[in-house]
Amino acid sequence: MRTSDKFHDECGVVAIYAHPEAEKLAYLGLHALQHRGQESAGIVSSNGMALNAHRAMGLVADIFTEEVLAKLHGTLAIGHTRYSTAGDSTLLNAQPIMVQSNKGATALAHNGNLVNAQEIRGRLERQGSIFQTNSDTEVIVHLIALSREQTLPEAIADALRRVEGAFSLVLMSTDRVFAARDPRGFRPLAMGRIPAAPGEKRDTIVFASETCAFDLIGASFERDVKPGELVIVGPEGVSSHFYAPAAEQSSCIFEHVYFSRPDSMVFGRAVQESREGLGRQLAREASIDADVVVPVPDSGVTAAIGYAAESGIPLRFGLIRNHYVGRTFIEPRQTVRDFGVKLKLNPVRSLLEGKRVVLIDDSIVRGTTSRKIVRMIRSAGAKEVHMRISCPPTISPCFYGVDTPSKKELIAANRSVEEIRDFIGADSLAYLSLDGLRDACGDGEKTTYCTACYTGHYPTSWVDVEEIQPVAVVKR
Ligand code: AMP
Repeated sequence: MRTSDKFHDECGVVAIYAHPEAEKLAYLGLHALQHRGQESAGIVSSNGMALNAHRAMGLVADIFTEEVLAKLHGTLAIGHTRYSTAGDSTLLNAQPIMVQSNKGATALAHNGNLVNAQEIRGRLERQGSIFQTNSDTEVIVHLIALSREQTLPEAIADALRRVEGAFSLVLMSTDRVFAARDPRGFRPLAMGRIPAAPGEKRDTIVFASETCAFDLIGASFERDVKPGELVIVGPEGVSSHFYAPAAEQSSCIFEHVYFSRPDSMVFGRAVQESREGLGRQLAREASIDADVVVPVPDSGVTAAIGYAAESGIPLRFGLIRNHYVGRTFIEPRQTVRDFGVKLKLNPVRSLLEGKRVVLIDDSIVRGTTSRKIVRMIRSAGAKEVHMRISCPPTISPCFYGVDTPSKKELIAANRSVEEIRDFIGADSLAYLSLDGLRDACGDGEKTTYCTACYTGHYPTSWVDVEEIQPVAVVKR
């Protein structure tokens, strides 16, 4: 796989088995997972006879109106919310994907990124398969449809053994729900239960990327889907199958740093606990004399609480976030400097004026946001701005489902910490160490982590980390 083939899908998935309003629970679950992707969303439901789908661009609450949900009425449902970079942001690539084959109607929603999708796709296309999307996920659907295995569960297991990379999947037929994770356990997937209501025969079984989705729908967290596991939920009950042996665990540490919500349990661990620990560790590793600790909301808030507690420097919300910013906004003709960031964040002058500020954020990717925020804090009268980042420098792109840009756009891949400090205009800059990050996230306790974005060491083969430039073909 080449970097240029990479899909930057960040997603949330949810599945509901056996509930009289499965479509509504899927909708609420997706709403709780909206932070994992704001570009498109979809739900496929089953009324026991057929699958019904609705997919659209936009936010969950805007897409799923009463009328749309009425058409999706069913007892089983899966859902997906997605963010991807501009190039492939089409409705065509929205999920869940549906297919009709000799194994019956099947729908699938995927969080993660396959690293051998292009290779498999090329092979299938040469054999005559016609792909409808340019998403890596469609490969799994084709492999299921083409599998020589007779039953759907066997065909799913067969397909999953052929793909490589990161996948947390929920699938459904008209009468069953399936959930699976790749053998390395890159992305999270949790299983929960809602006890049967009086008069109902069965408990409702649910799956979601993060447990915060369970809280909204009244489900209790039961366990994570295990790496290499395929869970099947049907009229016969819940059964667990291992389609592949678990490999060395490579759970995405960035879920704990930034991506997941602090109110979720992810990889068996409270995100809140990790994130506060990151801040505490950062204070131990990179202390500085200052008057206030200020988080960049929302991404730096929990780490800032930890930093303030450990350092004894008071926490102040010196930046206020406007939560109602959509994707695009009309800018006045006379352009405002740092317009995009100003729409979202505004400094509190009375808290910052004359102060030495420790500014806490989760990560620096391109560096452009941090540069604007530092400028903003200074313009509100801060005397000093000390930037502290609750993870190590991001030096390598992610091939497993987090949207990091290519190496040439990653500031830490190309500049030293001192050069980055100079670029963002801070008085000092410090990142958390890799060991500090691992410790704070409990590495080796419930799981071991993938830290490839900080080290460049990828846990799978297939990843060609060199940026391959298109080669001009000269005709002779
Ligand atoms: P920048 O350095 O300007 O590229 O912006 C970095 C900020 O974007 C960080 O402080 C994060 O809060 C946020 N961020 C980091 N990684 C991601 C990601 N994969 N998707 C969306 N936002 C991100």
